[in-house]
Amino acid sequence: MEHICKKCGKCCHGTIYSVPTDGDLLNWKDHPEILKFVKNGHFWMDPLTGKMLESCPWLENNLCKIHEIKPEYCSNFPAFEGLRKKYCGDD
Ligand code: SF4
Ligand code: SF4
Repeated sequence: MEHICKKCGKCCHGTIYSVPTDGDLLNWKDHPEILKFVKNGHFWMDPLTGKMLESCPWLENNLCKIHEIKPEYCSNFPAFEGLRKKYCGDD
């Protein structure tokens, strides 16, 4: 079944953040404001506590503020059927 994004923003809230790719890290090399949310090889982490954030720091009004250089994981979401069902409400 074809996935059509409903722009609900659920994929931008906790627990499904992931690991930046080499390409992501290259995109962010001059963006310390982004890199500060990468800890222990994962995004998006609280720079103070080191714990995973509940909501992505780049989400504003259900839009991605770093759309052009957002993680590949986000660009490819939902990559698996399980994610489509769990987060996107697909059949
Ligand atoms: S980087 Fe953008 S697309 Fe990825 S979780 Fe944050 S707001 Fe969502
Ligand atoms: S959870 Fe799925 S439907 Fe909702 S914004 Fe993310 S990709 Fe789109």
